[in-house]
Parts: sequence; C-alpha cells; structure tokens
Amino acid sequence: MEIFHQIINRPGHHLSFEFFPPKDDDLNRLYETMKQFNRYHPDYYSITWGAGGKTVRKSLEVAEAIKNRIGVTCVAHFTGLGMTKKTVDELLMELRKRNVHNILVLRGDIPHSMDKDKAFHDGFQYAGELVKYIRSHAANAQDKLGILVAGSPEGHPEATSFDEDMNHLAYKVKQGAEGIVTQFFFDNACFYRFADAMHQRGVKVPVAVGVMIVTRSVMIKKMLQLSPNCTVPHELSDAIARYDNDDIAMEAFGVDFATRQIKDLLDHKVLRFHFYTMNHFGPTSKVLENLKGEFGRD
Ligand SMILES: Cc1cc2nc3c(=O)[nH]c(=O)nc-3n(C[C@H](O)[C@H](O)[C@H](O)COP(=O)(O)OP(=O)(O)OC[C@H]3O[C@@H](n4cnc5c(N)ncnc54)[C@H](O)[C@@H]3O)c2cc1C
Repeated sequence: MEIFHQIINRPGHHLSFEFFPPKDDDLNRLYETMKQFNRYHPDYYSITWGAGGKTVRKSLEVAEAIKNRIGVTCVAHFTGLGMTKKTVDELLMELRKRNVHNILVLRGDIPHSMDKDKAFHDGFQYAGELVKYIRSHAANAQDKLGILVAGSPEGHPEATSFDEDMNHLAYKVKQGAEGIVTQFFFDNACFYRFADAMHQRGVKVPVAVGVMIVTRSVMIKKMLQLSPNCTVPHELSDAIARYDNDDIAMEAFGVDFATRQIKDLLDHKVLRFHFYTMNHFGPTSKVLENLKGEFGRD
C-alpha cells in the first residue's frame, strides 16, 4: 500500500489537482481531463464531497477511478456535517474497499437545503472533532489513513478572530492531520502571515497553497461572496469589473495573475501547490506552461 505520509513529505516541489463530480454525470469527460493532467506527474488528485451526502456516491466512484483507472494517488474530501459516527465508519470502509486510503477532512459547507442546527447536532460540528474521532477509532488506527485538513490564510469567515482560527487549525494537526491545504487567496502577504502563525504554534506539517485561477468574472464574484474576508488586490478587482462580459480577456488576465502569484510564492520557497482546476485543463496548464522548469518535473 502507498504510504501517504511519505508522499506528502517527499522533498522538492509538489503539485496536486482538485476536481468535483460533474453535475452532468459525464464521468468519462472528467477522466479524460484527469489523464491530461497526468503529464505533470501529480502527487495526488483530490475529489470534492458534497456536505450532507447528496453527491457521495459519485465522489466514491470518482475516487476509485482516480486510484484504479487513472493510476494516481487519490485524496477523497470527507465532510463531517450531519454525519453520525456510524456513517463515518461505513463511508471510510467504502473508501478502503475502493483502495482509497487518504482523506481531506473538512467540516463542509452547509448546503442551503440543510438545517444548520440539525447538521451540527447530528454530525461533527468541527473538522477537528472528526480528525480526532477517526484517529482514535481502532479500525482506522490499524489501517493508517492519510489525513489532510483545510486552512484559511485569512482566517475562516465564521471565526471569531484570526488567532482563534489558527488555534483551531493547529488543533486539527495535533489530532493527527499530516498536512494542510489552504483556501484560495490572491494576496501572498496573507499567506506569509498565515505561515508565520503556523510556525509560532509549532505546526510543522507540509502546507499546500490552494491556487484559484480567475477565468470568469461572474464565477469569482459568487465565490468572493462566500469568502467575504478574501483580500482582492486592486489590479484583480479592476480586471474582474472590466472583463465582466469578456471571458477570454478575464482568463488571459487570470492566467497571468496566477503565474505571477506562484512565481512570488516560489521565490519565497513555497514548495506545494494545489490547483482548484474546476474540472478544466486549459487555464491550469497555461499557468504551468508559463512556469515550465520551475517545478523540477516538466
Ligand atoms: C482545500 C479545500 C477543499 C474543500 N473541499 C470541500 C468539499 O469537498 N466539500 C465541502 O462541503 N466543503 C469543502 N471545502 C470548504 C469547507 O468545508 C469550508 O471552508 C467550511 O466552512 C469549513 O471547513 P473546515 O474544515 O475548515 O472547518 P473547521 O476546521 O471545522 O472550521 C470551521 C469554523 O469553526 C471554527 N472552529 C473550529 N474548531 C472550533 C472549536 N473547537 N470551537 C469553536 N470554533 C471552532 C473555525 O475557526 C472555523 O471558523 C473545502 C475547503 C478547502 C480549503
């Protein structure tokens, strides 16, 4: 069995790519896209998970295909909202049966259809509780799952303060998470502050930077509504306004912006990059082509 701990702690640059189960159920198209990404020798592919369970079957199917059909290490996102301990055990067993042994443990985004109080009451209110449960459970201890968790470089929008949120993230690591994947951000100064906060708390696990390439003005406006504390540099907010109806120009700007953002992160010795691909090869591959030679693998 692959040892995820060794994969994410390997020295050098790391590239991982995130996908979601497509709404139109065209899984073959998704697999073709994933195969295109194979040329970048990914460390892993991750597949999102709909909190509340509606898309879980599809996530399980894609997770299995990533590992067994595409031939890449798979990290299945795994959310705790509304999940009982019994359901968690059953779903982890399902993943194991499908040869998937690594998860990104999350609280989950509360779907509109879900009653927040009920979701918190029935399931795991915080990702840290879920990491703790999984690590302390005998069946999981035997077959050591690889566990990643999410971090918010500018603090999670629901957190009472940045410092409190950093403490909660450090707790997730203390409970046994082996790595952190960040939420997207556009101002690298925020990430450097976050990295300092982790350092101050003695958190030493690898951190992968979540990269979002802005390709459509409408799309990013929606995302920013859900991430109210995301700092947007003037040049980006100007472009989002300017290219409201011009997706081609928006994507060209977004690719250039992400290229420069990653270049600066590389200059600051950041090694791990996790691309939110939005199931598209084009924009991410353009950024990676712009950075050809920088990752020591292309
Ligand atoms: C890389 C990445 C992938 C994602 N994939 C998915 C996905 O597939 N499906 C999905 O639904 N969502 C996904 N999300 C979104 C994520 O579920 C949301 O950001 C969610 O709002 C919080 O998840 P979390 O795991 O960070 O929560 P938590 O770590 O539980 O934190 C949530 C909030 O609770 C606070 N908190 C934590 N512990 C405590 C405590 N003990 N007491 C008081 N407050 C506490 C935190 O400070 C924070 O404000 C993803 C996010 C990232 C960064």
